Amino acid sequence: MGADQESTSGSAGGSAKGPTGGGPTDPSGRSRDADRRIGRRALIVGGTAAAVGSAVLARDELARLWWRIPGMERPRDDGAVDYAGATWVAASDANWRRADRPDDYRIEMVIVHVTQGSFDSAVRAFQDPGHKASSHYIVGQDGRVTQMIRELDVAYHAGNRDYNERSVGIEHAGFVDRPQDFTDAMYAASAKLTAQICTRYDIPVDRKHVIGHVEVPGTDHTDPGPHWDWDRYMKLVRRAVTSGAAEPTPSGSSEPSPGASSKPPAGA
Ligand SMILES: [Zn+2]
Repeated sequence: MGADQESTSGSAGGSAKGPTGGGPTDPSGRSRDADRRIGRRALIVGGTAAAVGSAVLARDELARLWWRIPGMERPRDDGAVDYAGATWVAASDANWRRADRPDDYRIEMVIVHVTQGSFDSAVRAFQDPGHKASSHYIVGQDGRVTQMIRELDVAYHAGNRDYNERSVGIEHAGFVDRPQDFTDAMYAASAKLTAQICTRYDIPVDRKHVIGHVEVPGTDHTDPGPHWDWDRYMKLVRRAVTSGAAEPTPSGSSEPSPGASSKPPAGA
């Protein structure tokens, strides 16, 4: 589990100042200011817009990606999940940060955790606004999968802001010093979930991109610990990817999928 809350400084919308800050003063100043604002935002979020003239592209971007206007949000359905095999239970919104991944941050890692507690205690912790940590998913010893934060949002699980922004966090119910907690059903369910995440975001299935919390720079956490069988897990993930078991299935979300060209450059 992560125990660190992040600062939310540097959040999106920093350029959304009103037209009073020394902008154009002619009669059309207001709309020009708005145009420029959208153009700048498109530059930030769209690799394509950065390569072509942003003034022209801004309108296309706007038509397709209207929720990027400051104050607008990508549509979200109550109870929608990103993984069809998951059950939705909402985390407290104090334990995660709203984002528009993979457009504002590229998702390029899966981080494996162990809860150091029961499945139910982890769910309760993430519902607690005072907990200051959370992950996107919790996998139980019986193979059940609960999603508590949407993948487009940033969960506080790695104790490292940069890693949180670029990863999906999966908790596993149990204790690092109890190998019997890592059941066949848990490995199978988690591997299928990770395989689907890797498939959807084009994440390489290797140990540079599927890592343990212990491997996050600066962490003092040791999970998933020495009893987590990485060889077995990675084999299961690879098998799920190649067998097609990881193909995304409709999850009941009606959210429009962002175009492939809207990915920001690596490292954004
Ligand atoms: Zn952890």
